[in-house]
Amino acid sequence: METHNFSIEFFPPKTDEGADKLRVVRQKLALLAPKYFSVTFGAGGTTQQGTLQTVLEIQSEGHAAAPHLSCVGGTAESLRAILQQFQDSGIRRLVALRGDLPSGYGGGGEFRYANELVEFIRKETGDWFHIEVAAYPEMHPQARSPQDDLQAFARKVQAGANAAITQYFYNADAYFEFVDNARKLGVDVPVVAGIMPITNYTQLMRFSDMCGAEIPRWVRMKLASYGDDTASIKAFGLDVVTSLCERLLAGGAPGLHFYSMNQAAATTAIWQRLVK
Ligand SMILES: Cc1cc2nc3c(=O)[nH]c(=O)nc-3n(C[C@H](O)[C@H](O)[C@H](O)COP(=O)(O)OP(=O)(O)OC[C@H]3O[C@@H](n4cnc5c(N)ncnc54)[C@H](O)[C@@H]3O)c2cc1C
Repeated sequence: METHNFSIEFFPPKTDEGADKLRVVRQKLALLAPKYFSVTFGAGGTTQQGTLQTVLEIQSEGHAAAPHLSCVGGTAESLRAILQQFQDSGIRRLVALRGDLPSGYGGGGEFRYANELVEFIRKETGDWFHIEVAAYPEMHPQARSPQDDLQAFARKVQAGANAAITQYFYNADAYFEFVDNARKLGVDVPVVAGIMPITNYTQLMRFSDMCGAEIPRWVRMKLASYGDDTASIKAFGLDVVTSLCERLLAGGAPGLHFYSMNQAAATTAIWQRLVK
C-alpha cells in the first residue's frame, strides 16, 4: 500500500516527563515511516513555544514536521514573527487553522477565519510553505449549514491551501459526500482523512461532543457495554477503525492523518493491519 500521504499528529507535551514519553512514542511511530509528524498549536498562546520546540526536536531526529498555526486572538505582527521563526527553522509545511477561543474570551481580533490566515501566509511568505487546512465531513459545529461550511472550506483553498485534513469521523459516507461536493465546487486539492483511534470510551465521547464528530449508535452502544474492560474496547476499536480506513482508501482517500493522542500503540496496530 502507498504510504505517501500518511501523517501522524501530536500535541506539545506540557511537562518534561511528557516530553520524555513522547520521544519514546516518536521512535516507535517513526518505524511506520509517515510522510511527516504534525504538532498542534494552542489558541491563546498556551502551547505556542511547545509547538515549535517539539517540531524542532522531530526535525533534529531526521523527520519532517509540520507545526499547526491558529490565528484567532493573534495579530498580523505576532503571526508574522511566528512565520519568520518557522522559516528560520527550515520548516516548509504547516497546518493553518482558525483555532478556538478559550471560553470567556471576548472574540474580535485581526483574523476571524482560517481563509484570512491562509491569505496572510501566502502574502507574507509566497510559496515557502505547503499549507494544509481543516475540513469537516460532518460539518463544523459552528457552521450555519453544510453548504456554508463547504463554501468556507473552498475559500481556504482559493486563498492558497495545498491540501486538507479532515476532522475525525466514523461515517465513511460523510467523507465521500463531502469530497464529491467539494469537487463539484471545483476544489481539487487532496482531502486526507483524519483518523481517531478508539482506545477510551469516556475520552472519545467528550472529544466528539466538543468537535461535532458523530459516534454511530451501534459503536457507542457496544463501547458502553464493555464498561471497564479496556482490552475489549481496544480490540473492538481496532476492528472498527481499521475497516473505516480500508473503506476510505479503497474509495479513493488520498491518505490518512492519525490523531495519535501522543500514544503509539493504537496507530501502529491499525497501520500494521492496513499494510498486511
Ligand atoms: C486537522 C485539524 C487540526 C487542528 N489543529 C488544531 C490546533 O493545532 N490548534 C487548535 O486550536 N485547533 C485545532 N483544530 C481545531 C480547529 O481550530 C477548530 O475546529 C476551529 O473551531 C475551526 O478552525 P478552522 O481552521 O476549521 O476554521 P474556519 O475554516 O475559519 O471555520 C470556522 C467556522 O467558521 C465558519 N466560517 C468560515 N468562514 C466564514 C465566514 N466568512 N462567515 C461565516 N462563517 C464562516 C465555518 O463554516 C466554520 O463553522 C484542528 C482541527 C482539525 C480538523
